[in-house]
Amino acid sequence: MQIFPFSKKYQIIFSEKSDGDLKDLQLRKQFIGQLQTNYQVQFKTLLLQHGSKVSTARADLHDYEGDAMINSDSQKGIGFIVGDCIPIVITSKSNPLMAIVHGGWRSLLQNVLLLTIQEIIHQHSILATDLDIWIGPGLRRDHNLMDHEPVQLQFPEWKQFVQKKGSEYSVDLIGFIKKQCYDVGITDRQITDSDICTYCETETFFSHRRSTNEHDTNGRFYVGVWQTKKL
Ligand SMILES: [Zn+2]
Repeated sequence: MQIFPFSKKYQIIFSEKSDGDLKDLQLRKQFIGQLQTNYQVQFKTLLLQHGSKVSTARADLHDYEGDAMINSDSQKGIGFIVGDCIPIVITSKSNPLMAIVHGGWRSLLQNVLLLTIQEIIHQHSILATDLDIWIGPGLRRDHNLMDHEPVQLQFPEWKQFVQKKGSEYSVDLIGFIKKQCYDVGITDRQITDSDICTYCETETFFSHRRSTNEHDTNGRFYVGVWQTKKL
């Protein structure tokens, strides 16, 4: 597992290939159990749906369905498993609040990131300038290729993030994620991009696309965030 140096107040962690395929429920329970023991924090898990539902972590539930989750309980961490889709973490500088967003192409197309940021601003009265954004390991532009015209071309806001390369198209999900942040007043200084492409990092990460293209082992890794300092 790796701890990503992101913020003094929150900790972001992700599993690696060596931690195993965390789609496996037993392995995932073990991994999260270890995190809970090591860091004294309880984790809520978001079960991804490839839609745009934003869930709010509550005391009475353990697992949540949706593609984003907001948590303002400093005793709780939140996490999900991904395999190529871009994990996005949002934290507040001055309020105990964190969110995870599933930056898969379907969810992004349905505006899951914007909906999450809007809910944070509206329901939690937090300014966009108070947020920090982390863009995690995922399938980057140069490896996000398809041989047919992508559906994104039907939406004007996506056009600048689709490129034709010979007979293939590439879609830049990271570019779109950043643009949605800029549109609500979040600046580059608030954005930390891990710059990690899951397809390229053969040793460290599972990649769904690489497993399809190159018959490499298919798997998922866990991404979690929790608060480490009182706010
Ligand atoms: Zn790559």
